Amino acid sequence: MTDLHRLSIRELSEGLAGAKFSSRELTEHYLKRIAKLDTQVKSYVTVTAEQALAQADAADASIKAGTATALTGVPIAHKDIFCTQGIKTSAGSKMLDNFISPYDATVVAKGKAAGLVTLGKVNMDEFAMGSTSENSFYGATANPWNLSHVPGGSSGGSAAAVAADLAPFATGTDTGGSIRQPASFCGLTGLKPTYGRVSRFGMIAYASSLDQGGPMAHSAEDCAYLMNVMAGHDAKDSTSVEKDVDDYVANLNGKAVKGLRIGIPKQYFNVAGLDADVKARVEESLKKLEEMGATLVEIDLNMTEAYVPTYYLIAPAEASSNLSRYDGVRYGYRADNPVDLMDLYKRSRSEGFGAEVQRRILIGTYALSAGYYDAYYVKAQKVRRLIQQDFLKAFESVDVIAAPAAPTTAYKIGANLSPVEMYLGDIYTIAVNLAGLPAINAPVGFDKDNLPVGLQLIGNYWSESQLLSVVHQYQQATDWHTKRAAIAEENA
Ligand code: GLN
Repeated sequence: MTDLHRLSIRELSEGLAGAKFSSRELTEHYLKRIAKLDTQVKSYVTVTAEQALAQADAADASIKAGTATALTGVPIAHKDIFCTQGIKTSAGSKMLDNFISPYDATVVAKGKAAGLVTLGKVNMDEFAMGSTSENSFYGATANPWNLSHVPGGSSGGSAAAVAADLAPFATGTDTGGSIRQPASFCGLTGLKPTYGRVSRFGMIAYASSLDQGGPMAHSAEDCAYLMNVMAGHDAKDSTSVEKDVDDYVANLNGKAVKGLRIGIPKQYFNVAGLDADVKARVEESLKKLEEMGATLVEIDLNMTEAYVPTYYLIAPAEASSNLSRYDGVRYGYRADNPVDLMDLYKRSRSEGFGAEVQRRILIGTYALSAGYYDAYYVKAQKVRRLIQQDFLKAFESVDVIAAPAAPTTAYKIGANLSPVEMYLGDIYTIAVNLAGLPAINAPVGFDKDNLPVGLQLIGNYWSESQLLSVVHQYQQATDWHTKRAAIAEENA
């Protein structure tokens, strides 16, 4: 079979269970595609071919023995922010280029327990700071829809690998849009779960009160399969929540679009810099949902202007604290020939971290320093609460809130936006993290240059099933999620 990479996760699951193909065949198929096509896409930092084939053989044995789960034998790519035992876990940084993790992240361990086959680790902005994946020590990843454009970030490797069909689905993380924005730029479905739904254990920390892992795939149905593996309480993560997990696959047809009240925030559609094609495609998708029985309700989200400044104080503040552990002593990069301890710290950190990471450590350290703490950090925390309350008030009258995932489609590689221009591109995603809410991106068409546009739906706490089922029903009625970039159509 040459088109195994065109099958959905459900079709892969059924094909494996029905012995139409083996996990070894499927895994070899993907490894061949990676070897041939990833020279152009550059989505993988590490390909774990040998381990993948061993896992595939074990999966085939388990399927024969009748001990398989729905996902046994299905391949996956992990964002290089999830620790993988015995395998390099770089977080896209020179700092961790030599780091072989001694343990698995909970998300990775759960994937292994479910029988998933790890194809490898995929590229990302350094320590998940960025919106293009260009901030990686390993260089830029290409957008499969147009190789001279970025796939978005920070989970750009995950998005590019799935969009080029170099993995059936992938894990990502979202601190300020890093699942939703690359999903939008690459024409994928990506879910950022409620804070606390997915364990952060073994997920390299950027901003701990915002970081959350989630699935990236072609469709809501594919994401639901991966959510069934990723979600759940973990005693090793004190912020993971002890709350029953839904069966996201079984719930896909649960909540009907008919009668759904979709909030349209006035402020979101008046943002300067909102691209006309993006606006048009998002509005068309909302019209489609309306035809399917949803009601569009105009709402106010008055705190919109505060999103970027609030996020860009809180996230760097937490980052400056989290990244203090990289000291050149315990693990990671160490500068050569230090003259004393101070020199070791300074040069290890100056040489090991890239420019954007250093910028954020500086901003964060400043915001947390005595004298500025109340004026910046504490103030930002207060505004954060107001942003959350703004959403909760909106959810009194609507079920979900619609927004673009990003004001533009994918930037050109090397576009070299200033940091502030780059940060403004996060306007539609970061408030969701500040509030801890779940949100999903779904592909809804293309701009004039044939680059994908995404619709974001934001839900109330723990509404992952609802978000997935609304998008699933939209995807039953439309075919944007079935479109493939030219490179994905190539055979290996
Ligand atoms: N663009 C956001 C940032 O640079 C993305 C962060 C994320 O979600 N990891 O902080």
